[in-house]
Amino acid sequence: MQCVRVARSLVPAAQIPVCFYQVGSLFIDTGPSNARAWIKNYFWQPAPRAVLLTHFHEDHSGNAAFFHDRFGAPVYGHPETGRILKTGFSILPYEKIMFGPAEPVPVVHMPEFFEFEGRRYQAIETPGHAPGHLCFYVKEEGWLFAGDMYVAEKIKIWRRTENLAQQIRSLELLCTLDFEALWCGHNPQPSGGPALLKKKLAYFRWFYDRAAEAYRKGLSEKEAIRFMKLRERPLVKLLTFNDVSVAHMVRSVYQNEKEKESLSPAVL
Ligand SMILES: [Zn+2]
Repeated sequence: MQCVRVARSLVPAAQIPVCFYQVGSLFIDTGPSNARAWIKNYFWQPAPRAVLLTHFHEDHSGNAAFFHDRFGAPVYGHPETGRILKTGFSILPYEKIMFGPAEPVPVVHMPEFFEFEGRRYQAIETPGHAPGHLCFYVKEEGWLFAGDMYVAEKIKIWRRTENLAQQIRSLELLCTLDFEALWCGHNPQPSGGPALLKKKLAYFRWFYDRAAEAYRKGLSEKEAIRFMKLRERPLVKLLTFNDVSVAHMVRSVYQNEKEKESLSPAVL
């Protein structure tokens, strides 16, 4: 098993390391297309014969079309990932600078169990970070290929499309698995994986409960951020055209609480 780590932002200050993994001739994720020149010239041995995608984001799917076209490797993923990558998707300027675009590629529906070169990869549905996000669990090896389900213990900003309640449920599911290595898409952890996921889950639960309390008090999103003793990141907001912020994380809780209210029976 090899962890391939690339960091190829067009602006060095905006570099975020991205990790993808090679197990024999199987690849889990493919790195961003900004790293294409290096990936093209690297002598991949053994040659790629299949690709599993955790999710469609360009830093994970950025070279799937290259591996597919150059080596004929089928690309497997969730049907939602397939729907998005069939036509491709537009990215914002900051994503272009940090990672580069992902070309369209046909994606085969990933079965729950995928046997390859003597190993069994179990696809675990883990929505919340991106629609159709999957983790790949190899029980016999004690591996969890986690995509973006970990990244760091305390995530305080995120993209407008993320859903905290879903991520909490996904983490609860992952915490029931028996593994050691947390092969994260940005921050690989060879040991102690479950304890790290449990810490992240505890932090997310704390965040959700405090933001829900702010909602019940009738606070605005801005007031909730102060109430939770957090700080908005104006520069991040500006540079990402408001795609990434603290407020998005609070809003995700507010929306979930609103939905819960609309589902609960009216009190007579
Ligand atoms: Zn992602």
